[in-house]
Amino acid sequence: KLYNQIQDLRGNIRVYCRVRPFHPGKVSSSSSVSGIEDRNITVMVPSKYGKDARKSFTFNRVFGPLATQEEVFTDMQPLVRSVLDGFNVCIFAYGQTGSGKTFTMSGPKVLTEEGLGVNYRALNDLFSIQEQRKDTICYEIAVQMMEIYNEQNRAVCSTAMNDRSSRSHSCLTVHVQGRDLTSGTVLRGCMHLVDLAGSERVDKSEVVGDRLKEAQHINKSLAALGDVIAALAQKSTHVPYRNSKLTQLLQDSLGGQAKTLMFIHIAPEPDAVSESISTLKFAERVA
Ligand code: ADP
Ligand code: MG
Repeated sequence: KLYNQIQDLRGNIRVYCRVRPFHPGKVSSSSSVSGIEDRNITVMVPSKYGKDARKSFTFNRVFGPLATQEEVFTDMQPLVRSVLDGFNVCIFAYGQTGSGKTFTMSGPKVLTEEGLGVNYRALNDLFSIQEQRKDTICYEIAVQMMEIYNEQNRAVCSTAMNDRSSRSHSCLTVHVQGRDLTSGTVLRGCMHLVDLAGSERVDKSEVVGDRLKEAQHINKSLAALGDVIAALAQKSTHVPYRNSKLTQLLQDSLGGQAKTLMFIHIAPEPDAVSESISTLKFAERVA
């Protein structure tokens, strides 16, 4: 089989981490990230008692601020392609607002060819393989865009999503059906590409009303997602899918033969360090 290499990866859950660069004009000499290697990231944890502590985390892959969109996608390509072989795939972009989730999944605000994110590259890749295999397999590919806001579910157009994007989960779903032209065998696969709501903790003393309700819904659904993936990673017999709309909606594509990629994002600014550590701890739990 063409894409057996994906089976090499331990289990069906993998975790990637990406550290975004400093914003242009705001380059700082100090970063909360003190080291990045192929699979390791080390952060500086400021200490109240003098000496700063370093803490290291290990994931399937760590991308530094110089990693290109192409490099990032190339690593994920076998996973994306497996949807054509009938696998269900979920890719989540997780991190605080401003850490680079939308950059990874869609691209920068002003899109260029090199800037194209995972969503575009994944669709391009699937369509080009559909073309390459057209003499042996007839693929039907359908694409759907969805936003999950305050635990409700809804189909939206992409422009309506921008203003609320950091407070809702947006999900691009690709349904694939492939019919083998010789045997008539039909394969079905589904891929969810999810740009999650910002994971930052909102100070309850500072927000009220709708904003507080939003924050509570976001915390609840991200925690529920972490619980589900952690249960799957530990091969636990009970997987708590029912605790949020997000996990209920994706239930068929999480667990079993499905493949999951949790892609966490880290901002390098020293004042983001406590959110960065909470993101890294979230990921460590599901890795
Ligand atoms: P999020 O979706 O997590 O809130 P964004 O993707 O909107 O964050 O990123 C915040 C800002 O940083 C945007 O201006 C974005 O273009 C920029 N940015 C994020 N990641 C990168 C990166 N890897 N390289 C260059 N710019 C980036
Ligand atoms: Mg965003």
